[in-house]
Amino acid sequence: MKKICLGLSVLLSTYAFSANLHYSLIKKESGKEGSTLLIVGGIHGDEPGGYFAPMILSRYYKIESGNVWVVPNLNFDSIVKNSRGINGDMNRKFAKIETKDKDFDTVSEIKKLILTPKVDLTLNLHDGQGFYRDRQIDKNFNPKAWGQATIIDQQQIPNAKYGNLADIATKVNQETNVGLIEDVHEFNVKNTNTKAQDKAMQQSLTYFSITNNKPAFAIETSKNITNLSQKVFYQLKTIEKFMNVMNIKFSRTFELTEESIKKLLNDDGMLEIPPTKITLDLSTLKPYIKFFPMSKDKLVYNSNNSLVAVIKEKDEYRIMNGHILVSTLKPEFIEFEHSLNDVSLIIDGKKTMVKIGSLINAKNSLQVDPINGYRVNIIGFSKNGVTNEVGIKVEPKDFIKTYAIDKDETTYMVQFYKDKKFCGMINIKFEDEKKSKK
Ligand SMILES: [Zn+2]
Repeated sequence: MKKICLGLSVLLSTYAFSANLHYSLIKKESGKEGSTLLIVGGIHGDEPGGYFAPMILSRYYKIESGNVWVVPNLNFDSIVKNSRGINGDMNRKFAKIETKDKDFDTVSEIKKLILTPKVDLTLNLHDGQGFYRDRQIDKNFNPKAWGQATIIDQQQIPNAKYGNLADIATKVNQETNVGLIEDVHEFNVKNTNTKAQDKAMQQSLTYFSITNNKPAFAIETSKNITNLSQKVFYQLKTIEKFMNVMNIKFSRTFELTEESIKKLLNDDGMLEIPPTKITLDLSTLKPYIKFFPMSKDKLVYNSNNSLVAVIKEKDEYRIMNGHILVSTLKPEFIEFEHSLNDVSLIIDGKKTMVKIGSLINAKNSLQVDPINGYRVNIIGFSKNGVTNEVGIKVEPKDFIKTYAIDKDETTYMVQFYKDKKFCGMINIKFEDEKKSKK
């Protein structure tokens, strides 16, 4: 997988479009000595606590000593479908799997990663049913429940670094249980005694790991907690306690509270679809966008959010953030031409050179200077008889709002053409009158 940077301070994952979405591996390395933690999210595609938490971690945490490797979206095809497993339960394929199984490559690759000598400990993230308690209370609180628990397969792995599984899980939970949102959310250690008692768990990721002498735990938040930000809060809190145990130092750009996580989850991230050279702010995007120029060639895209996927369905493209549909693009298939890099614009009366692909802000007006050999189409603006919209001062009131690409209806596409070929675009955002009057 190729990593590129769009001037943002985080890594961006590139996906080549195919029927199968590939998971991301984001290696957050401090450059300083220390242990390495592998975090695997999204093995079950209908457990959002298990994949939004590692996405937040990969975007907003900095590792100061030791290393954290993050796979936020292992079963990505199932995540975008909000299904436990479109090819069956991936977490029951670690003891044996047939080569023709559609999960074969993913399972084989993640096994290899777990066994990498550098990896000291693996966490497998889930949302489980109910609230685990060691004695029967009612249908939600009982020994058969999985939620709000740190799961171990056995007490310990003799002679392994971090092999005291029960002791570590107990210590982690004690610390996680300080500052709960609600008392019933307390975490407990669930030992599945896999070798003796649990045929199903013998086929799981964690059991594969521990039978290879490598410590592994599952963190389960509860499906009964419906608030995603609360699940992510508990997942991150528990992961941080594991990092403490492993002496991995970290910093983050926010305070670990449910409130701040809610804000981070509301930011869907940026999406760049390279032939357009445009970067879309997914949080502000309208649910449906027409006339979006696309190439008929293989679809490639980049996002700073590892849960973003662009999926072709019939003649439209669905932009997903995990299982959440962010927007649908109705493409205008067109040939691309890449000779144009910068254009001269007059923004609010001031002349500036602007790179193709930029998002620019304006207060009152936009005017595109004529470019020899190129034609300009300002989407949402039209003037009788004019086919090349250069040299015209355009103001917000001149636009037809339905052509805006954002929910606030303030952002418009300015598209450039050479003959019938598309040369890229610039998005212009007019300051929101309602907001600026405050
Ligand atoms: Zn699960």
